[in-house]
Amino acid sequence: IAVDPRNTSRTCPACGHTAKENRPTQEKFHCIACGHHAHADTVAATNVLRAGLVRRNANPA
Ligand SMILES: [Zn+2]
Repeated sequence: IAVDPRNTSRTCPACGHTAKENRPTQEKFHCIACGHHAHADTVAATNVLRAGLVRRNANPA
């Protein structure tokens, strides 16, 4: 399933807040809204997975 990767590395997987300020450095993610923090790649992967599942559920094969 192909997903649009836009914003996947700057959207908080905990609260959904999207801001470039959530990404203080290349490898860090720190949500300015709820304080959630994790490795940026982990956050992006979580968001890509969620987007893929949403697409699959919206268009069942
Ligand atoms: Zn957050």
